[in-house]
Amino acid sequence: MTKGPYDLLVIGSGAAGLAVALGLLAQRPHARVAVLSKNDLSEGSTRYAQGGIAAVLDAADSTEDHIADTLNAGAGICVPQTVRHVVEHAREAIDWLVDNGVVFDREGPGLHLTREGGHSHRRVVHSADATGKAVQTSLEARLRESKAELFEDHNAIDLIREKLPRGQQGRVVGAYALDRRNGRVHRFPARSVVLATGGASRVYLYSSNPDGSTGDGIAMAWRAGCRVSNMEFSQFHPTCLYHPKAKSFLVTEAVRGEGGLLLRPDGTRFMDEYDVRAELAPRDIVARAIDDVMKRLGCECVYLDISHKPAEFITSHFPTVHAEALKFGIDMTKEPLPVVPAAHYTCGGVLTDLAGRTDVENLYAVGEVAFTGLHGANRMASNSLLECLVLGAGAARDIAAKMDTIAAAPALAPWDETGVTDSDEEVVVAHNWDELRRFMWDYVGIVRSTKRLERAKHRVRLLLEEIAEYYGSFRVTNDLLELRNIAMVADLIIRSALARRESRGLHYTIDFPTLDSVAPPQNTILVPKNFSIRRLT
Ligand SMILES: Cc1cc2nc3c(=O)[nH]c(=O)nc-3n(C[C@H](O)[C@H](O)[C@H](O)COP(=O)(O)OP(=O)(O)OC[C@H]3O[C@@H](n4cnc5c(N)ncnc54)[C@H](O)[C@@H]3O)c2cc1C
Repeated sequence: MTKGPYDLLVIGSGAAGLAVALGLLAQRPHARVAVLSKNDLSEGSTRYAQGGIAAVLDAADSTEDHIADTLNAGAGICVPQTVRHVVEHAREAIDWLVDNGVVFDREGPGLHLTREGGHSHRRVVHSADATGKAVQTSLEARLRESKAELFEDHNAIDLIREKLPRGQQGRVVGAYALDRRNGRVHRFPARSVVLATGGASRVYLYSSNPDGSTGDGIAMAWRAGCRVSNMEFSQFHPTCLYHPKAKSFLVTEAVRGEGGLLLRPDGTRFMDEYDVRAELAPRDIVARAIDDVMKRLGCECVYLDISHKPAEFITSHFPTVHAEALKFGIDMTKEPLPVVPAAHYTCGGVLTDLAGRTDVENLYAVGEVAFTGLHGANRMASNSLLECLVLGAGAARDIAAKMDTIAAAPALAPWDETGVTDSDEEVVVAHNWDELRRFMWDYVGIVRSTKRLERAKHRVRLLLEEIAEYYGSFRVTNDLLELRNIAMVADLIIRSALARRESRGLHYTIDFPTLDSVAPPQNTILVPKNFSIRRLT
């Protein structure tokens, strides 16, 4: 069935997708806008963001300092123009959120600012320890009041490009999406399409992200002919609660900040053997140390113990963590929390310019799906929501300015289901999901080696072949679509990791353990076979 046609199709309803959709409707109230989300509208990483959003609002702070801190975290490969652009538009982004009903914590006449790792000043605007929820709830409410058409439980499968003579492909003209409630595939023709599908951290066995972070937008863009960059830089958070049912619960770094100790299963401390700052070392160092202990001992987790502090201190400082752990029968006032590092943020993604434009005409990518050059080799805390908002506003401006000049999308070919049947082998999909995420964790995780990467490359190639065969034979399901995408993204991560012959930022390999001080620092840009040159501004 064909929906629309639309002026704008937004795939994803987190901070990035909401910023573009609301931004366009504010400039073009009569535009026909569709917003797709794979689950319900609020189920993206945005809702789970805890800390806040970075912005220079304090008189003692400066944009130059925010820029310097971001460049420093990015370990030499941030794109300086992008960093400046995002930082300079931060105040505007916060004002926009406030105008759209987001309530932040206040102090006196202004907003309360906290400080986080890597920031040289207090500059993190927040709404208690649930900033993402405040942003998601308010923007979503605005979207529901608008005339945008919302399609929840719709999993976008692939982008559609206009067919040109001699087999060439032109601009993007829409997308196919699976309605998860009834298994039907619909066509969504649109003048412009925005990928706002979030990151790919679910490619790893342990992740702080919700289930849907399977890199769908990166995989769709790659298949459509877009370049992707810096996929080797996956950020791992050191401490996620380890329990079969606590799927992605993050234990805030403040637990270590307030005296929590990391312990081996036998109760001995280890962080002081890895760094003089012990438990207070930066995120990537703590994550690497935990990974090393787990690999050496073959244990499933380590422990984070703050039970030596008074119970009242723990419950008043960490009410959310305490309540969540109690749900699984763990009382952190009396016993240590079992923790593992977890994939947290995808620094790489679809290459875009400062208006979110990709290599394919009228196709945009905004938010964690995109690579803008802001994060370089390591993302600084609280810069990612900011990127969603600033780049989202820029994309909305560009789309609004061009809208009248773009011809309506042509009629789209129906989804082809000839020769496919319902699968009677769902076990294959479940098994491959598990195998892929496990070998990505073991071979392409926090500490890498060329041998392990080569091993993973071989395994992922086999899986990609098997998945392609399965995809060609059976009707699509949500699990199959996600598996196809995480396998493709895994391949991109492995190729990028093999291409970087040094350790930089989040990419650490024992075969090249230091920075390459000879070759100039570079981003890792991968080019798809069907790439045709279109100059990004
Ligand atoms: C636990 C946690 C804490 C964090 N804390 C912070 C913080 O304090 N500050 C900060 O700046 N950042 C933080 N981050 C990172 C930040 O939350 C994310 O980078 C940001 O929210 C990404 O927003 P997004 O709009 O790009 O994607 P998301 O919010 O992840 O939204 C993705 C959307 O795309 C949809 N989607 C995906 N695939 C498809 C498909 N195939 N078809 C249709 N729809 C699809 C999803 O349904 C969802 O609506 C945190 C992340 C996590 C997980």
